[in-house]
Amino acid sequence: MQLSIPAIQELEQHLLSEGIAQVGYSKPGDTLPERYRRLPYAITLVYKLSDAIVDEIITQADPPRPTFSYFQHYRAVNAFLDSKTLWITAMLERIGARALPVAASQSVKDMGPYRGIFPHKTAAVLAGLDWIGKSALFVSPQFGPRVRLATVLTDYPLPVSKTEPLPGCGACMRCVKACPASAITGKPYTPGCSRSDLFDPQACSEHMKRAYQQIGRGAVCGICMAVCPFGRHRLESE
Ligand code: SF4
Ligand code: SF4
Repeated sequence: MQLSIPAIQELEQHLLSEGIAQVGYSKPGDTLPERYRRLPYAITLVYKLSDAIVDEIITQADPPRPTFSYFQHYRAVNAFLDSKTLWITAMLERIGARALPVAASQSVKDMGPYRGIFPHKTAAVLAGLDWIGKSALFVSPQFGPRVRLATVLTDYPLPVSKTEPLPGCGACMRCVKACPASAITGKPYTPGCSRSDLFDPQACSEHMKRAYQQIGRGAVCGICMAVCPFGRHRLESE
């Protein structure tokens, strides 16, 4: 069973024409939980968030805070990405492959606190889309962390190329200083480090629930994303 390169290109062209910003291919292999190792390949979808909405997080209030527009955007983009991973899954199953769409936003108690079945950013980094920042967010050189990700795991052999991540954050500490929950440690990501080396998801979650309850039930914040210099273009107010 081999999906031909033209067929892959057609799939990718369709996704790009529908608004997906980037598509990546990787083989997460051993980084997958045991139960998913029979689906060793991954397709990563990147959706670029609206700059107008993300910029409001740092322009509409002092100190910065999330907005209702961001909460709505976050939910709409997750639903959009989930519709695209469903479509890819259907296309792969039609040609006899097995495929599993990983929800864009996930928190699955069985996998541990604040964890999903598989981290999208692991597949995105392996696909060469780029690095994990000090904020523990995936960071693209073009869009910064202003993206949402989704993944399809499959047994279909995909055209995977080995790439090295970019150097990353360097001396920047903007997200560390801006986080109102002091949840970001400031340590740089290194291969094999744990999420808790970079960031405390409980401190982040508790702050959001406490401080932003009136904005989308305290489910979003986004300050660390909005302040990152990568992907941040000149603001209208500057
Ligand atoms: S989402 Fe907000 S509270 Fe959570 S780490 Fe980022 S800046 Fe801190
Ligand atoms: S704000 Fe700076 S330290 Fe944080 S993720 Fe972006 S580049 Fe890295």
